[in-house]
Amino acid sequence: MYYLDHCGSTPLATEVKESILAFLNADGFGNPSAVHHEVGQKAGLAVAEARDSIAKALGANPTEIIFTSGATEANNLLLWGFALRYRAQGCHIIFGATEHKSIYDTALALSELEGVSVFEAPVDQSGVLNLEHLKKQLIDLEGKPTLVAVMHMNNEIPARHPVEDISRLCVQYGAFFHCDGVQGYVREKIDFSLGIYGSYVISTHKIYGPKGMGILVLGRGPLSARVLPPYHGGQQEFGLRPGTLNTLAIVAGAACISLHEQAREKRTRHMNECARVFVETLSALSSLFQLTIPMNEKVPGLVNFYFDGVDAPTLLTFLGDVCINRGASCTGSGGEKFSHVPRALGLPIEVQANVLRASFGDGVTVQESIKAAQIIARRCREILEK
Ligand code: PMP
Repeated sequence: MYYLDHCGSTPLATEVKESILAFLNADGFGNPSAVHHEVGQKAGLAVAEARDSIAKALGANPTEIIFTSGATEANNLLLWGFALRYRAQGCHIIFGATEHKSIYDTALALSELEGVSVFEAPVDQSGVLNLEHLKKQLIDLEGKPTLVAVMHMNNEIPARHPVEDISRLCVQYGAFFHCDGVQGYVREKIDFSLGIYGSYVISTHKIYGPKGMGILVLGRGPLSARVLPPYHGGQQEFGLRPGTLNTLAIVAGAACISLHEQAREKRTRHMNECARVFVETLSALSSLFQLTIPMNEKVPGLVNFYFDGVDAPTLLTFLGDVCINRGASCTGSGGEKFSHVPRALGLPIEVQANVLRASFGDGVTVQESIKAAQIIARRCREILEK
């Protein structure tokens, strides 16, 4: 097996598995909100310790951490919460053209509500948000409740958005800034005490932790000034995300965050190396191999490419044990022909249809990355010879 889909998900780290087993063996089955008896208190303590340790790693306050079922829910929660809070006054959501669907489609769904207008902010040819355009949008909307949702790093193309500049513009024109940090946190340390990010989202299954576990880090300032809870029926997570907490995932999530803080540098070096040899091998073996945008060391381990004239769906069916993808896994079963991300780059339609993504991490070695590239090049040749 050659696993080249780390932007899709990552294998559980041994240390995370151990944290899960330790928690199970310690009988942590109680409801963490059942504060009146010992079994509940034990689970509650585990959640509190996990929250403290995650907050410390991120330079945030424990009260700013909201546990959710994943980044998709966290992004929905923030956008819906903002729209519910402000739509009576008329509110505005600006979102990047290459956002993950959990922002992109949520913004489009919200535009159906009375009082909510949404605007797509374009990216340039290298997939980076156009700051001048954003600035113009913000000047037009100054004084009106506005949320800017732009991701830290993209999940399909190696593009990092200038989040520091976006944050500064938001402060200057009085807008809220929400950042989908799922791929950014994998590759870059974030420190909330610097006050760059308004709110920020992490997904633990991208950093060798459990699936179904998201972290929404709220920015400073009163919560009620930015969001109203879209859900009801419980006081968990400060009333913003009610429902019994997924204690096991939260404990495992804290373990994977603390491991990632120590391992990030080594992991990103490995990701860069794997992506480099993968691209070198394919460039040497196939004259049809093309990158949609150049490699970017700031976004290590992510390659977006196509083969001139080779049908991507056909190639994927011939790849056997080489695991790569066309784009985000989340749209995989959605019946969509191809991703909105290459479209936003302005690539010709025939290229958009054939774009592929390879993403690297601890689940693949440098040697396997070379081997995978050789197999892909060979399959391409075979398809064209048929
Ligand atoms: N945003 C980005 C940038 C992602 O890469 C992903 C995962 N594909 C998500 C959001 C959704 O994360 P989750 O799987 O935790 O819902």
